[in-house]
Amino acid sequence: TIILGIETSCDETAAAVVADGRRILSNIVASQIKSHKRFGGVVPEIASRHHVEQITMVCEAALEEANMDWQDIDGIAVTEGPGLVGALLVGISAAKALAFAHQIPLIPVHHIAGHIYANRFSAEFQFPLVALIVSGGHTELIQMPGHGQYELIGETRDDAAGEAFDKVARILGLPYPGGPEIDRLSAETEPTLSFPRAWLEEGSFDFSFSGLKSAVTNAVHNAEQRGAALEKADVAASFQQSVIDVLVTKTMRAVKEYKAKQLLVAGGVAANRGLRQAITQAAQNAGVELIIPPIHLCTDNAAMIAAAGTINFLAGERAAMDLNAHPGLELINV
Ligand code: ATP
Ligand code: MG
Ligand code: FE
Repeated sequence: TIILGIETSCDETAAAVVADGRRILSNIVASQIKSHKRFGGVVPEIASRHHVEQITMVCEAALEEANMDWQDIDGIAVTEGPGLVGALLVGISAAKALAFAHQIPLIPVHHIAGHIYANRFSAEFQFPLVALIVSGGHTELIQMPGHGQYELIGETRDDAAGEAFDKVARILGLPYPGGPEIDRLSAETEPTLSFPRAWLEEGSFDFSFSGLKSAVTNAVHNAEQRGAALEKADVAASFQQSVIDVLVTKTMRAVKEYKAKQLLVAGGVAANRGLRQAITQAAQNAGVELIIPPIHLCTDNAAMIAAAGTINFLAGERAAMDLNAHPGLELINV
């Protein structure tokens, strides 16, 4: 099965060709980070415009690099949501046009299912598995009894993990996107500041990061007012450690409770070196198989959309030509 994936939910214009949901034949990502950097975050209108400019080229490059013609493509998988509505619509319109012109089935894909299936390029899934999703807009623990089946175990009650990284980076005056900057600074030092960890009610698999964000903001501002600014690296490392402690502890508890055969980590924050190290150690101690995508497959790309799209395709899922963008689309179906 050869699937072309298309992803435009946020600020990456991406297309990829994947064989059998497991093998990447091409993976083209046109990042817009430079255009959004001076605004300190993604500007939706600018994102849509860039997608329009890039999408045709990116799709053609994906086919060319994979050495494929349109008649080799079994399905076109596209992110239908969640994401920015104008950004999503560009990918969906392109996918529809290509599917119609070349008479190829159109397959809708949930963006977070894509992040999860980025792991399938590393190893075949063993069910039941537990997946920790940590991205710019999501922080969730999901249990999967089988392919394409998603049961929600816990989720954030306020900010997503990636959102917290980006906000704390902004407080520290670091450039967008803040996650990689905090990661880099954290590697320079040991955490010495004590920031709160939101465990919530006993047994809860939910998360909360807004209290931590406020604590960091207050610590930074109070120190500034005293005329003794905190060391940026120290704030970064201490914040990061607080996030990692909660993520890893709750995830390992979920692995145990759901008797998971595998643990998956997915989403942009899975690129964080501190998290990768801590969860690798914890999985080893618990004797559970851990899969984390290589760093370039953690953030948004279209190979992951083609991989999740392959599962949908084989399950017979098809979208009609009236497919629309769904900015708040839910993944959970169990
Ligand atoms: P979603 O997938 O929830 O719709 P998104 O697509 O915007 O949101 P991703 O592309 O999955 O998010 O991830 C981007 C997020 O990952 C940003 O918040 C970014 O700061 C964060 N991130 C990227 N690299 C790192 C890193 N090394 N350490 C921590 N956070 C990181
Ligand atoms: Mg992005
Ligand atoms: Fe994403």
